[in-house]
Amino acid sequence: MKTNLKPATLCVRGGWQPGNGEPVQPPVVQSTTFKYDNSEEMAMLFDLKKEGYFYTRLQNPTNDAVAKKIAALEGGVGAVLTSSGQAANFYAVFNICEAGDHIVASNEIYGGTYNLFGVTLKKLGIDCTFVNPEASEVEIEKAFRPNTKVLFGETISNPGCKVLDIEKFARIAHRNGVPLIVDNTFATPINCRPFEFGCDIIVHSTTKYMDGHACQVGGCVVDSGNFDWNAHADKFPGLTSPDESYHGLTYTTAFGKMAYTTKLVAQLMRDLGSVPSPQNSFLLNLGLETLYLRVRRHCSNAQQIAEFLSSDPRVAWVRYCGLEKDESHDLALKYMPEGSCGVMAFGLKGDRDTAIKFMDSLEVINIATHVADARSCVLHPASHTHRQLSDEQLREAGIAPDLIRLSVGIEDPEDLIADLKQALDKIEG
Ligand code: PLP
Repeated sequence: MKTNLKPATLCVRGGWQPGNGEPVQPPVVQSTTFKYDNSEEMAMLFDLKKEGYFYTRLQNPTNDAVAKKIAALEGGVGAVLTSSGQAANFYAVFNICEAGDHIVASNEIYGGTYNLFGVTLKKLGIDCTFVNPEASEVEIEKAFRPNTKVLFGETISNPGCKVLDIEKFARIAHRNGVPLIVDNTFATPINCRPFEFGCDIIVHSTTKYMDGHACQVGGCVVDSGNFDWNAHADKFPGLTSPDESYHGLTYTTAFGKMAYTTKLVAQLMRDLGSVPSPQNSFLLNLGLETLYLRVRRHCSNAQQIAEFLSSDPRVAWVRYCGLEKDESHDLALKYMPEGSCGVMAFGLKGDRDTAIKFMDSLEVINIATHVADARSCVLHPASHTHRQLSDEQLREAGIAPDLIRLSVGIEDPEDLIADLKQALDKIEG
């Protein structure tokens, strides 16, 4: 296929190029296994000496076609689909960390990732230090230790809606000889391509905008191929020295720029197996086909709604980086000049009950544990997604108890504004 195609074209045509007489949709290869005529051929596949399919936990043609589309959209050398965004975050880190290692992560991240890094990775012997992403480079660097292997952040944080200074994070990571991993779920490659700003590995919850129709849970890890693992060989022995579980193969020697993704499949998928079903990847691909169009609409709807909320006297504060007065506005203009996302956070004048009354009064907008979907929805993190965090942890993660997260969908903005208005009227009653 032609290179340098624009994002809207890649959304429709990336990943799967049918040959003569082949289906335009990537076929759903709903098969666990693949048949071979002789054992030698299958042995070559097991030895990673030949490309091909033998078992869907490792690779599957439908999953691969969709992963290739996402890699093309992000400008990466390779991508691997996972069964959820959580699995993508776990694999992205665990592919280069082991017991005794340490990671540094922004504290402005999704609650599930915060828990994964702060609690579950700790149980595996990997420590995490959370940092305020707005702190100075010197301050953030103080968190690094000799055994630090990763710096992690979210392009637009969930639910705080703060924009990450990707170039600053990339400088800090590279000065310390580690890759920068960025969760680009909210911005999507339509609005921001973090590799262009020095990020090394991108993760996605494809459950969100990429799918966009609330019909599959999935994730993706994309590698830029830019991080020089051999330049820091002592830090990343899993990639730069022989893998005894793979006949002594060294990933960087055997696969060059594809070392990271090959190891992720050959080792982590083999042993942990968080692979999506081909049917889910097919559904994800339908979402990707319209990603460009939907993202533009989410952004223009969200801009109008953020302006409406900011001008309403019953609203105490609004966080949307598309608003000029927002503290992330300059970073948004730098990293996402065409638009950011459809997600915003706001608080109402009043107490917790005011927020709950408001949400219960909405008629069009749903209360849902979801975000970045065609249907608008709201959530109160303190009583829903982040309820496992203490008040102190909530504050550390930049989440106010009154924060309402609003994910603006692609409905008619007039209907959404009318719904918000009638719910605001009810809190006064
Ligand atoms: N990353 C971000 C920014 C998210 O918002 C979420 C979920 O909300 C995840 C990762 C986890 O993704 P999933 O729910 O697909 O496991």
